[in-house]
Amino acid sequence: MIKENAEVVVVGGGVIGVSLAYGMVKKGAKVILIDKVDNRLTASRGNFGLVWFQGKGKGMPRYVEWCIEAIERWPEFAENLETETGFNLNYEKTGGLEICLGEEEHQERVNFIEEMSQASRSGRYDCEMISRKELQGMLPKIKLGKEVSGASFCSHDGCVNPLNLLKAMNSSFQQKGGSFRPEQSVQKIECSSNDFKIETGTHSFNAEKLVIACGLMTTKLARMVGMKVSVIPERGQILVTERTSRVFNYPTAGIRQNYDGSFMLGSSHEAVGYNIETSYEVLQNIAKRAIRILPSLKNLQLIRSWAALRVLTPDQKPVYLESDQYPGAHAITSHSGVSLASIHSSILVEWILEERIPLGFTAFHPKRFNVQEAI
Ligand SMILES: Cc1cc2nc3c(=O)[nH]c(=O)nc-3n(C[C@H](O)[C@H](O)[C@H](O)COP(=O)(O)OP(=O)(O)OC[C@H]3O[C@@H](n4cnc5c(N)ncnc54)[C@H](O)[C@@H]3O)c2cc1C
Repeated sequence: MIKENAEVVVVGGGVIGVSLAYGMVKKGAKVILIDKVDNRLTASRGNFGLVWFQGKGKGMPRYVEWCIEAIERWPEFAENLETETGFNLNYEKTGGLEICLGEEEHQERVNFIEEMSQASRSGRYDCEMISRKELQGMLPKIKLGKEVSGASFCSHDGCVNPLNLLKAMNSSFQQKGGSFRPEQSVQKIECSSNDFKIETGTHSFNAEKLVIACGLMTTKLARMVGMKVSVIPERGQILVTERTSRVFNYPTAGIRQNYDGSFMLGSSHEAVGYNIETSYEVLQNIAKRAIRILPSLKNLQLIRSWAALRVLTPDQKPVYLESDQYPGAHAITSHSGVSLASIHSSILVEWILEERIPLGFTAFHPKRFNVQEAI
């Protein structure tokens, strides 16, 4: 058995674990990042790459503020990562659209923004409705389908190359002295009064602090250190077209044109357990909706499709938890791990390393799911 020591061990090399590990080495901590390297497409390797605000936070005003803060940190976060590593993240903050088909979708969107504005502490939700005419004016190089009734526009929104993001954070983590241990699957965690012993088949790691951020496996590993965290999979399927000239300058939740000219279309929301196969019917529906929005897409060849599993808590908001039984052990899980990478690598790192608790942070504790306790 090979033995290693660190101040912090992070289990999980997806975008959340890597954001945390990267942020920690920047603060000077000695960190080991362990990842079993899943050959299947994990969420971090199969996502849509949006750095997104609009639509988020219903039922939790603190999460709305958290997302805004994450987005505000993104330009500097991306610039630093690019300078540190030479990777191009292709980060663009153009503002983003949610395009509506028909009057009913349009009205639903109006109602949603109104509801979110009323629920927010500031009395506003940074998202505005625009008419079909305004939308066509913003997209002069591509003709909208006849059913398009308008859109909501949010200036905070943008997109990134999610694979380059992951690679860049991992590369910078290692450049700054972090130890990456791939192909190591954590099987067992033992806790004593002042440290954690984390075991894979061949290695044993000791650390004062432990962070469990291993996506859908978080439930299982968190239980080993007395934490109850519930996550479930949700399948999302994505299509990619051949490359064409750039005509669509704003990302939407279902259509974005990449820096290389290909369109990404997606993504579905399916409760099918751990099944990561694509299905013809769902992909067809994704393509059909995209063509109703932008009819000229029907001329493009589809070149790739895949499915990946979202990691969802019961209310789809983050869970940030430190064990009561074994202080120093943390479990971190969230949807929107790409959008939140900037805040996970900064504010969340300060919470874990320096015990600086952000204002209103208890909102992210999983006790919110325990109705009995909350009453
Ligand atoms: C189709 C789709 C579209 C999405 N679109 C967006 C988007 O546009 N914008 C956005 O912000 N978010 C998006 N998301 C969500 C985002 O991808 C996730 O929030 C994020 O990837 C979750 O990262 P993670 O690190 O928690 O999990 P994962 O990506 O699942 O990574 C977990 C890691 O833990 C490792 N692991 C597991 N068990 C062990 C073990 N025992 N020992 C060691 N390592 C282990 C795995 O190998 C894996 O690398 C999307 C997700 C999907 C599926």
